[in-house]
Amino acid sequence: MPAYEITIEKDACDGIFACLTRDPRFVEAADGLATVDPDADPVYDCEGDVTDTAERVVATFDDDRIDEAKQAAAACPTDAIIVEEVGE
Ligand code: SF4
Repeated sequence: MPAYEITIEKDACDGIFACLTRDPRFVEAADGLATVDPDADPVYDCEGDVTDTAERVVATFDDDRIDEAKQAAAACPTDAIIVEEVGE
């Protein structure tokens, strides 16, 4: 299963939260922008590494849910979300 990386560019994020309805791992952060919280999903117990800096959120997952993340990226009207495979 390929690992994948989800990046949210905070400059581009407008807090519209279309992403939240596509993938429950996306949540609203205290700054009113989107972030990723692996524990936020009420259904799946998922593990991921999240780095949240002033510029961007980078989350790495190793599961079969890349399509959900891609749907969140596609739903983002400002293209703030990038989903990339990062190898096996
Ligand atoms: S849909 Fe895009 S702009 Fe809206 S909160 Fe999510 S990442 Fe930010």
